Amino acid sequence: MSYNVLSSYADDFINDDEILETLDYAEKHRSDRPLLLNILEKARKCRGVTHREAAVLLECDQPDLNEEILSLAKEIKLKFYGNRIVLFAPLYLSNYCINGCTYCPYHGANRHISRKKLTQDEIRSEVIALQDMGHKRLAIEAGEDPNENPIEYILESIRTIYSVKHKNGSIRRVNVNIAATTVENYSLLKKEGIGTYILFQETYNKKQYDGLHPSGPKSDYFYHTEAMDRAMDGGIDDVGCGVLYGLNSYRYDFIGQLMHAEHLEAAKGCGPHTISVPRLRAADGIDPAKFPDAVDDKTFCKIVACLRIAVPYTGMIVSTRESERTRAMILPLGVSQISGGSRTSVGGYTEKESPVDTAQFDVSDTRSLDEVIFWLMQNGFVPSFCTACYREGRTGDRFMSLLKSGQIANCCHPNALMTLKEYLEDYAQEKTRIAGEQLIQKELENIPNQAVKERCRKYIAEEVQGKRDFRF
Ligand code: SF4
Ligand code: SF4
Repeated sequence: MSYNVLSSYADDFINDDEILETLDYAEKHRSDRPLLLNILEKARKCRGVTHREAAVLLECDQPDLNEEILSLAKEIKLKFYGNRIVLFAPLYLSNYCINGCTYCPYHGANRHISRKKLTQDEIRSEVIALQDMGHKRLAIEAGEDPNENPIEYILESIRTIYSVKHKNGSIRRVNVNIAATTVENYSLLKKEGIGTYILFQETYNKKQYDGLHPSGPKSDYFYHTEAMDRAMDGGIDDVGCGVLYGLNSYRYDFIGQLMHAEHLEAAKGCGPHTISVPRLRAADGIDPAKFPDAVDDKTFCKIVACLRIAVPYTGMIVSTRESERTRAMILPLGVSQISGGSRTSVGGYTEKESPVDTAQFDVSDTRSLDEVIFWLMQNGFVPSFCTACYREGRTGDRFMSLLKSGQIANCCHPNALMTLKEYLEDYAQEKTRIAGEQLIQKELENIPNQAVKERCRKYIAEEVQGKRDFRF
């Protein structure tokens, strides 16, 4: 097998020899200032760099150039995503799972954990609870179990979620994180109007992957790694990738992640819509100390910065796995979406006490959504509940061309302010509402297009009268 970015075989587009050679190349050039400066100059054009160039930046051992890497990542984040942070929440439908992932408490052999699958009525209750918090965008999660969680159950659940309209609430975008499946099933998901299909690779190192996935359908590395190709063949434009940092050498997985993005762009015409950057966390029966590849905070920041530089057009997501302190550190380096007020257990939004025995992982950031919103604003960010692109059909390459043209700022910024205003009207605590009103007035000035700015002012005034769901 040799490296081939266009091949449909995982062995070719995530080629082990190419990753090993890249690791070797990066190691040899970590102090090569002329090369590093060249890569940084290319990166400043904001059109990305190759996996090999990004690997050299990640390895760079020159303190001043490392500072430049971080500040360039911040510049790129501001250029494409401004100071906005889009909010979402996970919704766990079922923790039945027949896979054997050694790092996840939902693995089939875990007998300590209670198994639970939400009924459609329970889903409605969870969605009402999420709407009452102010959420508009969900990511549904379910283990892999063809008997308990067949595709029909997932499709019905999506219909239920979209159907719930409680007070002024509505879920406007459902992203789906379920196991790798067939082209036919991806087409069915597309027909139900899903946003992004999310599937974490966990690790791109096949040998390591095989050890971590000893049983169940997920043990097929190739089927798993080629899932995004099938999703796109099934008509899903927006796919979300991610590795679980800590399962394997971060250097290897960082390169694999970028090769995967390059493959999707080359073979399918559009790279991933988002990349998530989860790190291994403690959970029932899972001790992170047993995983020697844990990533420290400094390295984590560098990974986020180098991803931002390498794939400027790809959104980056960080979840409540990370603490407030870590989130504060990495947000400016390139993150565009975060979860807030999350429960990582099945039924967690409606049960009074967090049912920890069904949680997939421990949440580090346990603040309420309102606290997160207030905190974001205090730290100079504009919280956004925008779902406009997907609802306007701006998905896949249509979304990417708008982003690349620089015109997206005339959509994202007013949409952020209008959806924030909805939140302030319907859900915010008093302190948050006051801070939010001030922020909106200030940020209206930062909408580049004058006509859009005026329409945005008008829509915000209409929101005060009770109208909802404006978008550009
Ligand atoms: Fe199942 Fe996913 Fe957990 Fe693996 S990571 S055991 S597939 S829920
Ligand atoms: Fe995201 Fe599109 Fe909304 Fe911008 S306008 S925040 S890209 S959905």
